[in-house]
Amino acid sequence: MMNVEDQRYELPQEIRMTRNVVRDYISSEIVPREQEMEHDSIFMDDDMFNSLTPVTKEMGLWCMGVPEEHGGAGLSIFAQAVLEEEMVQHAAGLYRPAYGTMGSGPPEILWEGSDYQKETYGIPTVNGERHGWFAITEPSGGSDPARAIQTRAVRDGDDWIINGSKIFISGAPWGDWGIVFARTDPDSRRGITAFIVENDWDGFDLEPIPVIRAYYPAQLFFDNLRVPSRNVLGEVDNGWDLLANKLLARARIPYSAANLGVAVAAHKMAVEYSKTRETFGAPIATRQAVQWMMVDSEVEIRACRWLIWEAAWQYDAGEDFRQAASIAKVFSADILGKVVDRAIQIHGGYGVTKALPLERWYREARVRRIGEGPTEIQKMVIAREILNPGGPPG
Ligand SMILES: Cc1cc2nc3c(=O)[nH]c(=O)nc-3n(C[C@H](O)[C@H](O)[C@H](O)COP(=O)(O)OP(=O)(O)OC[C@H]3O[C@@H](n4cnc5c(N)ncnc54)[C@H](O)[C@@H]3O)c2cc1C
Repeated sequence: MMNVEDQRYELPQEIRMTRNVVRDYISSEIVPREQEMEHDSIFMDDDMFNSLTPVTKEMGLWCMGVPEEHGGAGLSIFAQAVLEEEMVQHAAGLYRPAYGTMGSGPPEILWEGSDYQKETYGIPTVNGERHGWFAITEPSGGSDPARAIQTRAVRDGDDWIINGSKIFISGAPWGDWGIVFARTDPDSRRGITAFIVENDWDGFDLEPIPVIRAYYPAQLFFDNLRVPSRNVLGEVDNGWDLLANKLLARARIPYSAANLGVAVAAHKMAVEYSKTRETFGAPIATRQAVQWMMVDSEVEIRACRWLIWEAAWQYDAGEDFRQAASIAKVFSADILGKVVDRAIQIHGGYGVTKALPLERWYREARVRRIGEGPTEIQKMVIAREILNPGGPPG
C-alpha cells in the first residue's frame, strides 16, 4: 500500500536549481543595470545586451519555450511557468522580461509551419536577428475574433492579396515580420487563414498607438498587400483552429506566471519597506492595518501560484487545460493589480514616485485584465466548462 508520508509535494530539484540561477541572474545582472536606465525603459543599450546574452546562453536558458531542435531550451510549460515568475522581477519585467537577454522566440505557432518558414522566420528570430509579432485583433473587436475578423485575403494566381487593418499589435513597431489572421472564406465563421508578412513589404503600413505602458502597440494597415503562397502558415481556411487550440489558451499560462512574478516583486518591496519605515515611534510593520494588507497579498500570491501550476501540469500531461488556464489568467491579472496597489499604499508617497518601479507596474498591470483575452471572456470559458464539462470550444 502507498505510504502517504513518503509523498512529498515539492519542485523537482532540477527546476529548483534552475529557478535559483534565474533569480540570481535577474538580481545581480538585470536589476543593477536597470537602476542606471531611464524609468520606463524598454530596451538596454547594445553593449549591455551583447555582454549579457553569452551569460544566458551559457546557462542553457536561451529561448526557454522554443524546441531544442530549433535552438531553444525546450522546457516544459511547467518549468517555463516557474522560471517566468523569476524572469519578470524587475521594473520592465511585465512586458520586457530580462530585456530579451534570455532570448525572444517567435509566436509559438510558427513551428507548425513549413521548413522554409522555420528557416526564414523562426530560426533568425531565435538567433535575435529578426523580431516577430502576431495580429488577431481588429478595430471591429478582439473578444470574439472569429466573428470580428474582417481583414480579407483573396487568391491571385500563386499569391494572396490582403486588405484590412489590425489594432493593438504588440511588438510590431520594433518587429520586422508577423503573423496575420485574415478571412479567406467569407461564408464561414472559422474560414480564417494565418499568413506570414513582412513589415517592409509594399502595402504594409503601421501607426504606433501610445498607451498606458511604454511598450506600445500599433495599428497595422494592409493595402493590397501581396503575400506569396509559401507564406501561408498551416492550412487555408484552418487558421482559426490552429489559433484557438494551439496558441491562445496555452499562452495564458506563461502570461499568468508573469503577472504572479511582478506581484511577488511588489510584495517583497512592501514587506522590506514596512520594517524600516517608522511612524509614531515604531515601524509600520508593527501596525495591524499594514500587516493585514501584507497578509492579503501573501494569501493571493500563494493561491495564484498553485492555479498557474495546475494549468501547466494539465497542459504538460496532455489534458484539457483550457479552463485551468482561464482561471489562472483571471486570478493572476486581478491579484497583480491588488498586490501592487497595496505595495504602493504601504510605501506612502514614495510609492507613486518614478524612483521606484511600483507606479510603472501599477499602470502596466491594468492592461493585463484586457490583453490575452479580457477577464469577462475568460469567465465565459470557465462557465462553459462548469456547465458542460469536456464540451467543444466556443
Ligand atoms: C496594450 C495592448 C496590447 C495588445 N497586444 C495585442 C497583440 O499583440 N495582438 C493582438 O491580436 N491583440 C492585442 N491586443 C488586443 C487585445 O487582445 C484586445 O484588446 C482584447 O482581446 C479585447 O478586445 P477589444 O479591445 O476589441 O474589446 P471588445 O471585444 O470590444 O470588448 C470590450 C469589453 O466588453 C467585454 N465583453 C465583450 N464581449 C463580452 C461578453 N459576451 N460578455 C461580457 N463582456 C464582454 C470585454 O471583456 C471588454 O471588457 C492588445 C491590447 C492592448 C490594450
